[in-house]
Amino acid sequence: MSKKIVLLPGDGIGPEIMAEAVKVLQVVDKRFKLNLSYETGLIGGCAIDEHGVPLASSTLARCQQADAVLMGSVGGPKWDALDSSIRPEKGLLKIRYEMGLFANLRPAILYPQLADASSLKPELVAGLDILIVRELTGGIYFGEPRGIRLLENGERQGYNTYVYAEHEIERIGRTAFEMAMKRDKRVCSVDKANVLEATVLWREVMQSLASEYPEVTLSHMYVDNAAMQLVRAPKQFDVIVTGNMFGDILSDTAAMLTGSIGMLPSASLNKDGKGLYEPVHGSAPDIAGQGIANPLATILSAAMMLRYSLNEAAAAQAIEDAVGKVLDQGLRSADIYSEGMTKVSTQEMGDAVVAALTV
Ligand code: NAD
Repeated sequence: MSKKIVLLPGDGIGPEIMAEAVKVLQVVDKRFKLNLSYETGLIGGCAIDEHGVPLASSTLARCQQADAVLMGSVGGPKWDALDSSIRPEKGLLKIRYEMGLFANLRPAILYPQLADASSLKPELVAGLDILIVRELTGGIYFGEPRGIRLLENGERQGYNTYVYAEHEIERIGRTAFEMAMKRDKRVCSVDKANVLEATVLWREVMQSLASEYPEVTLSHMYVDNAAMQLVRAPKQFDVIVTGNMFGDILSDTAAMLTGSIGMLPSASLNKDGKGLYEPVHGSAPDIAGQGIANPLATILSAAMMLRYSLNEAAAAQAIEDAVGKVLDQGLRSADIYSEGMTKVSTQEMGDAVVAALTV
């Protein structure tokens, strides 16, 4: 039976980088006999132009029926003045919510060939390979009550609610432990259990889950220390699991350790292992249409899709190895270019990954 992938190229550089990822997928499909089939849909600004909404219900339904969704990026100045209820980013929030994508996987991998691109000393980051598992549909970003209220003394007060139910903690914890089993078998759970009761419960649930995964070493770290450790000695981490807000901040910090946003893939998974895969970066309107965007984050997102939603680890590894080979050859898109290397276009980078896969 064929495995159905919905492609949502989106806006800005989205279509350019998606075209390269599809080229790569077609090669691994043939080599590993994956039997992939594709449908293409609109999300973001292009969907607003066509349907008046950033994600049409018919597109969402096709995504829900598919085995996985691969997305480019959404947004751009053309749609910035629209009412916030129909902005391009709403399409992304809707698909995450409707597909129940509670687990956000953000690897921060620094290919040794790019160690100079990091703001940290090469010896601190060369070979960095961290996976941040961020809870995506709960916590303070969604907790009720929330708002801005008027106090009796006439002063306004802003308030939010940091809330996590046991089942929400357990399912994200389980994702982290399962991921660790496929890696170095270490999970660091990040919380603020010295101050926030919600994270006292978080810590307790993580501890009780650990007994189900005796091979995995669980440690705990307060979020302030985790932020320090990420920039002091990031290679100490294997898998980091944390709530929505802490994960939002720490995953961006970890991403920047690698120096280039054009290299970073991500996945958001639901309880059935179905997922949305997308590069971490946005639609880069400043370089859209110029053929210079780095397609590797999207190509690596396609590799994650093969590994996590389609259970095709060998094909995923082949893509990741091919990306390594291309970097070894000294090929660089503009965002990761340094002197002495060969500057290539979006398409040339895609072609080089295809070539590395076919030798
Ligand atoms: P951005 O990530 O699009 O761009 C930031 C900088 O990184 C720009 O200079 C851009 O040229 C560069 N860049 C990004 N991706 C690149 C790539 N693949 N290759 C080379 N250079 C790359 O962030 P922004 O400028 O803050 O946002 C632009 C638009 O994207 C906004 O409308 C924003 O809302 C949207 N956005 C969408 C997503 C998403 O689709 N998930 C994420 C972030 C931002």
